[in-house]
Amino acid sequence: MSQRTIEIRGARTNNLKSLDVEVPRGQVVVFVGVSGSGKSTLVFDTIAAEAGYQLNETFPPFLRNRLPKWARPEVEQIHGLSPMVVIDQRRIGGNARSTVGTITDAWTYLRLLFSRVSAPHVGESNHFSFNDPAGMCTTCSGLGEVVVSAIDRFLDLDKSLKDGAILLPGFGIGGYWYSQYADIGTFDAGTPLRDWTQAERDALLFGGEHAARLGTKPPKGYEGIVERFERIYLQTSDNLSDRKQEILAQFTRSAVCPDCYGDRLNEASRTATVLGFTIGEMARMEINELAELATRVTEANVAPVVAALRARLDAMVTIGLGYLHLGRATTTLSGGESQRIKTVRHLGSSLVEMLYIFDEPTVGLHPHDVAAMTRLLEQLRNKGNSVLVVEHDPAVMAVADQIIEVGPAAGDQGGRLVFQGSFAELRRAGTPTATELSRRRPIKDQPRTPRGSLTVTNATRNNLKNLTVDIPTEVMTVLTGVAGSGKSSLATELVAQHDAIVIDQKPVTTNRRSTPTTYTGIATSMRKLFARHNNVPASLFSANSEGACPDCDGLGVIHTDLAFMEGQETVCETCRGRRFTPCVLRYTVDGLSIADVDELTITDAIHRLPDPAITKALRHLDDVGLGYLRLGQPLTTLSGGECQRVKIAKELRETTNPTLYVLDEPTTGLHLRDIDTLLHVLDNLVDHGHTVVVIEHNLHVIRQADWLIDLGPGPGKHGGQILYQGHVADITNTATAQALNVATPA
Ligand code: ADP
Ligand code: ADP
Ligand code: ZN
Ligand code: ZN
Repeated sequence: MSQRTIEIRGARTNNLKSLDVEVPRGQVVVFVGVSGSGKSTLVFDTIAAEAGYQLNETFPPFLRNRLPKWARPEVEQIHGLSPMVVIDQRRIGGNARSTVGTITDAWTYLRLLFSRVSAPHVGESNHFSFNDPAGMCTTCSGLGEVVVSAIDRFLDLDKSLKDGAILLPGFGIGGYWYSQYADIGTFDAGTPLRDWTQAERDALLFGGEHAARLGTKPPKGYEGIVERFERIYLQTSDNLSDRKQEILAQFTRSAVCPDCYGDRLNEASRTATVLGFTIGEMARMEINELAELATRVTEANVAPVVAALRARLDAMVTIGLGYLHLGRATTTLSGGESQRIKTVRHLGSSLVEMLYIFDEPTVGLHPHDVAAMTRLLEQLRNKGNSVLVVEHDPAVMAVADQIIEVGPAAGDQGGRLVFQGSFAELRRAGTPTATELSRRRPIKDQPRTPRGSLTVTNATRNNLKNLTVDIPTEVMTVLTGVAGSGKSSLATELVAQHDAIVIDQKPVTTNRRSTPTTYTGIATSMRKLFARHNNVPASLFSANSEGACPDCDGLGVIHTDLAFMEGQETVCETCRGRRFTPCVLRYTVDGLSIADVDELTITDAIHRLPDPAITKALRHLDDVGLGYLRLGQPLTTLSGGECQRVKIAKELRETTNPTLYVLDEPTTGLHLRDIDTLLHVLDNLVDHGHTVVVIEHNLHVIRQADWLIDLGPGPGKHGGQILYQGHVADITNTATAQALNVATPA
């Protein structure tokens, strides 16, 4: 019998304060609260983790070891869970064979369609699969791309062979192959390559006939540089060493396959058509158009196939991804696009009573597109599923059956249940979220005056319609427009033409030992502080001193190498993770031992560790709203939005020269209240003479722009134009103008 609620008792992971809560099943439940309050800890690290753990337990041990590992949450009891799907913003990584079509199954149905009704008739559907030898182009093995030598990077024409003209490792001076070119008497090793004849340069590179035509023929068996390079690096099926991989990355590039022109299929499959289009042409068509085209397939024998195909395509159109094409590699999708694609996959599923967990599904969505996303959440619920959403966007809160606020503040000041009820009730509840919802944020009344401008000239990247546009300097410019309108493409072009610092949401580090302490470099100051206060040498507090725990060498953990598996880390039993001998732990500052300091939040550390160097290094992290992080918290545990803010803090600390900064949706993961903190930080950058360009959908940020560039009108080929550039106050007649008007209370 199915339970009506997910019952959680005594949740204590991270900052949760022995939280008790009953989450209704079969509804859309939105979790809100300021950044760092514990929403993700409750939803992901507690509910999802326990659901994942329990699900894994149902598999035999052999399989269990191959499944994603879920750390069991610290919680007394959880009842009422069901099988779960987490739909987060992690990019759909993987290999070059994964496309929008394959990941949504639309490609499977398109292949079926071609196998049944294409002309000339081919037969089986695997003939239209680029993952199947029966269908794939053999030249590119179904990848659509081939790796070719980047010959322009091989030589420095201004140098002679003796001066190091051959840049390719192994071929230049001192290299294994060097004498095969410089010492054979065929080439003039002392003359810059630029002064050679074309025929000589061709012979050097390509050998073969080019070499045979020269006056002084090279010895028998001569191989040109390109021939040899490709034999060694490209025509080998060996696993390449890291070093070789590096060389490959540097001296090759990928090019469209010369045989299938990117269609990935062999000739027979490539040329068969349905309604006059080949499957490759359909893969390159906008999904909007393909959905339209699919309605024209009328053969009765394929009606179920067409219905399944259309269901996938229509879902993508509904969710605002109609501007993509099925052949688009998933590795090139943005985080928000990846998340929406994953959602489409599950809409096709006929499973019921599942638990769907979303992490900020509105990321990357213009207010105009948000309604489509909320409809999808409702559809999932209407099919009988439970939908849990972590979200800051009021438009999503508005469709929730129930809202749960965690808080009241961040870190230690959070972790409690502050509100549970409807959106209407929340608005009257006086919680931090309610307060922010009721606050009016006006359009900036005195936009800054630019000092100059950076011109982006003739931009045609992706869908951009040959744009030439001025980006004003020493102000904050916001790029707006519906998803797929070309904002990122314009930003990328700006970076390409003017060199900028891009502050993205990629992880700050992959090193699990990296923490705010190591990242800000305060460890030395900390040791000196403890030394000063206790009149002992600073070296006592270092991990490689006699003060360190002898069993784990001051690491707090013991690493066990396992022969065939990933190594394992366990907390050191001697010091119980506290890294130092009891003797060292007796020395304190403000009642804190050197190990206690790890548990301090950045904000607390600023107040409790009396040292100007420590305060100075930590202040910028506090300024960007990350004061709730603990000094010893591994940076690998940070979310995308938090990583982005760590990077902003670093720039604030280090950069002095006027710089162009480009940020993609910095409000990701931020509560309305924290957006003020972010705006303050961006203002700070501009006030230091920097130029800030932000891609953003958040209306509060748009209202605070000094300059607005609105792209559109639609996505993909229907976009790529500039609809408006100027002050925010004067924009009219675009989707962005509409959103600004609608959302500003009159
Ligand atoms: P929210 O989702 O509301 O922004 P989180 O649940 O991510 O907040 O974080 C709640 C608190 O727990 C914060 O103080 C955060 O720094 C801390 N925290 C999050 N993940 C970890 C972790 N893996 N280890 C230690 N502390 C963590
Ligand atoms: P926005 O940032 O406004 O959401 P983008 O600049 O990402 O829009 O995309 C504009 C158009 O260019 C879309 O049609 C998108 O599908 C296409 N596009 C973006 N990146 C790529 C890529 N790497 N390969 C092919 N098409 C792309
Ligand atoms: Zn090919
Ligand atoms: Zn130890």
